[in-house]
Amino acid sequence: MIDRVLDSVQTFATQFRDLLSNFDPITDILDILLVAFLIYCILIQLRKSQSIQVIKGFFLIAVLYIVASVIGLKTTSYIFSNMFGNFILFLFIIFNYEIRQTLENAGKRGFSAKLLFSSNNDNEITDCINAVCRACSTMSASKTGSLIIFERDSLLGDLQKQSVPIDSVTTYEMICGIFYPNTPLHDGAIVIKDGRIVAARCIVPLKNDYEINAHVGTRHRAALNVSINFDAVAVVTSEETGMISVAVDGQMRRGLSDGELRELLTSLLLKQNNSQKRFFDIFKRGDKNG
Ligand code: ATP
Ligand code: MG
Repeated sequence: MIDRVLDSVQTFATQFRDLLSNFDPITDILDILLVAFLIYCILIQLRKSQSIQVIKGFFLIAVLYIVASVIGLKTTSYIFSNMFGNFILFLFIIFNYEIRQTLENAGKRGFSAKLLFSSNNDNEITDCINAVCRACSTMSASKTGSLIIFERDSLLGDLQKQSVPIDSVTTYEMICGIFYPNTPLHDGAIVIKDGRIVAARCIVPLKNDYEINAHVGTRHRAALNVSINFDAVAVVTSEETGMISVAVDGQMRRGLSDGELRELLTSLLLKQNNSQKRFFDIFKRGDKNG
């Protein structure tokens, strides 16, 4: 076995020496920078979604494959080598949503690095926050139940699978219309992405329930859940009490005034004003999990 390891090291050293002797400073450095940039883009996109766990799994399999082939486990290496033969196909199947999302973003906004990474248009988001605050104020006064989920770093594609797709500017009329009692879309949540309503009648899977206060009803539970599992910001108006609440990072602040809601959403969603300090100051005044 030691011989095999030494052989592998020797082969690697020879290949590395050949590579260095053929090194062309201009094209090779350009090549390396381009690949590094592509990998960086992919990692940024993966970090936004929850797929980073899948990548860790792939790394583990790659390590097992290397160990198996170095120590000569034939069947194991055969299976793994076939898997890696179809690696690109696997990536396309597993990350089809993320790939589609990246291409969609690039198509919508052009391929500038700034716009690829920062998807938010602050004016659109400000208009959206204004509409949500006005709508919540009205729904709070009329005790209309609503759940509004803002996508942040984690993509909410999985959540939207069973929902009704929408593509609309976020307006006061649209939100009040969707949550108007006994209309086809009033049940469940709406999802807002980059200032636009992208889905209605979303049902949040209730995982990690043990972490959440048992006295919280299902709408508020859904808001806390989506803030824990998807890093989203969720705004609730209660049909029982009319209270406005916001859930973020597994914490809920209840009984917000219109001004507090606006201040909180602005600090959480606007990149320019994204002052974590202000957000924590507001949250410190609130209670945990309702
Ligand atoms: P409220 O204070 O408005 O009564 P609540 O927290 O007490 O809210 P429920 O009374 O159980 O919760 O509210 C039920 C409504 O909440 C449902 O009709 C539905 O619209 C919404 N809801 C319940 N579960 C979910 C979920 N998993 N995802 C999205 N919306 C949900
Ligand atoms: Mg209730």
